[in-house]
Amino acid sequence: MRKRWLSLAAGVAVLAATVVPAAPAMAAPTFKVPFPCNQSWSGQTRTNHSPANAIDFNRTDDLGDPVVASAPGTVDVVTNLGDTSYGKYVRINHGGGWTTYYAHLNAFNVSVGQTVGYGRVIGYVGTTGGSTGPHLHYEQRSNGSAVKINFNGAQALYWGTKTYTSDNGCAGADTGAGTVNTSGTALTVRSGPGTGYSAVGTVADGAKVTIYCQTSGTSVTGTYGTSSIWDRIGSGRFISDAYVYTGYDGYIPGVPRC
Ligand SMILES: [Zn+2]
Repeated sequence: MRKRWLSLAAGVAVLAATVVPAAPAMAAPTFKVPFPCNQSWSGQTRTNHSPANAIDFNRTDDLGDPVVASAPGTVDVVTNLGDTSYGKYVRINHGGGWTTYYAHLNAFNVSVGQTVGYGRVIGYVGTTGGSTGPHLHYEQRSNGSAVKINFNGAQALYWGTKTYTSDNGCAGADTGAGTVNTSGTALTVRSGPGTGYSAVGTVADGAKVTIYCQTSGTSVTGTYGTSSIWDRIGSGRFISDAYVYTGYDGYIPGVPRC
């Protein structure tokens, strides 16, 4: 019975795949370097790595150094594979099909089911499993497949070795700064990311704003052209990015999506 059900299910899945277009991949979280704020680590990618898109991180005397969550999520694997493969490793589930892997750890600092945020120490650099020296093996996966790694929306170096400096957990690292530019009139603040949301106030021309997250909403033509990006500047307070100088044409690197 078990086998029959399985094969039935597989048949349905194949049929569904032929008529339903694949769901688009969810936007990635804003991943950060998996080490504490301001630390610099040498990250290496190489074509003979398994999986190829993983990064191995090193720095001098790194055995036992803390490893931190590269984005908010829920810890869903804390396990020890012994002397093979990843050895002691942690996986964090970020939602939307996105996971990150932290392997060859010396020790753990989290348990399964725990919610973690940026900068949270999850374990310590080690040389467990199939490792020949202390380092952190790190992966970003989308729906189970290891993809090319991004930090703050910028792709890591493929292939080669590069120094990455962490802004993970730094105070203020996850917000953006903007200046309202309307050429005079006050800018309407909306309760959501669009002109259809109710007006909940205004910000003056020239006002400096803190941008906590950005999202897509109604397309607006303003001082900086046409944009569908909306900036959340407070709880239930959104303004059109078309009127905000942020230094970037699109989304601000490092600022999360709402
Ligand atoms: Zn590795």
